Amino acid sequence: MKITFLGTGTGIPQDGRVQSGLLMDTGDSLLLFDCGCGVLGRIYESRHDHRDIDAIIITHLHLDHVGDILALLKANWLVGRTEMRIYGPQGIKEWYTKTMEVYDYLKDRFFVDITELSPGEEFIPEGTDGKCNCTIRTAKTTHTEESLAYRVKSNNKIVVYTGDTEPCEEVMELAEDADVLIHECSFPLGFPMTNHTTPDMLTLMMEEHPLTSKELYLTHLYPQMQGHYREAVHHISKYYKGKVVVAKDLMSVETED
Ligand SMILES: [Zn+2]
Ligand SMILES: [Zn+2]
Repeated sequence: MKITFLGTGTGIPQDGRVQSGLLMDTGDSLLLFDCGCGVLGRIYESRHDHRDIDAIIITHLHLDHVGDILALLKANWLVGRTEMRIYGPQGIKEWYTKTMEVYDYLKDRFFVDITELSPGEEFIPEGTDGKCNCTIRTAKTTHTEESLAYRVKSNNKIVVYTGDTEPCEEVMELAEDADVLIHECSFPLGFPMTNHTTPDMLTLMMEEHPLTSKELYLTHLYPQMQGHYREAVHHISKYYKGKVVVAKDLMSVETED
C-alpha cells in the first residue's frame, strides 16, 4: 500500500503544510482520507489525478478536514466526473446538504453517495468500479463526539489513521499489529492541551498500551511544533522501538514487506 501525505498541517497557515489530507493507494483503489483546504492542489502536485479517487473518507467535520470537499467535487465535475462516494462520521449527510444549499449553481450537478459510520464498524468502500480491495474498521477518537479513526487492511498490509485525537485506548487497540500508524501530533512536548496529542501525552498512553505498529508517522502539526520535530521523535523513541517519522506534505511511503 502506498501512502501519500497531502496535507500535514492544521487550521493555521504555515510554510509547506496545508490542512489535513492523505491518499492511500491499495494498488486497485485510491482512497482520500480527509480533505482540508489546500488538499485539492496537493493532489495535483503529487501527480495524482483527482478523477481517480474512488472514495473520500472523513474523520470528522472540522473545517481543516472537510474544507476542500466541494472544491474537489467541482473540479471533478468540470472535467466530467460527477459521482463520488463519501464515508464519514454521523452528521456528515447534514453537513453536506446544508453546505450545498448555498451553491445553487452546483445543485444537481454531482451525485454524491454518503455513508455515515459509527465506531466499531467494518466496511468495504465502494469505488468507481465496484468494491475496493480493502476493508476498513472504525474506532472512536477523543476529539469530537463523532470523530473516527480508520484501520485500512489491504493485501495483508494495515495502515491506521487517527484524524484528530487525544491519545486513547481505542486508537491503540485499532493500531494493534499495524504496519503503519499515522497519529496526529498537534503540539510539542509539555504543551497544555486536551483533544489533541503532544509527544508526552502519546508516550504516557504507550506506557499503558504499548504501541505494536511497525512505523509511526506524526501529522496534523500546528505551527507551535516548528523547531520541536527532533525533540518529538527523540522523546517517542524512548518508549517505542519502531520507526518514528514527522510527516511532510507530498511525502510518499510504501508499506514494507
Ligand atoms: Zn479537529
Ligand atoms: Zn484538525
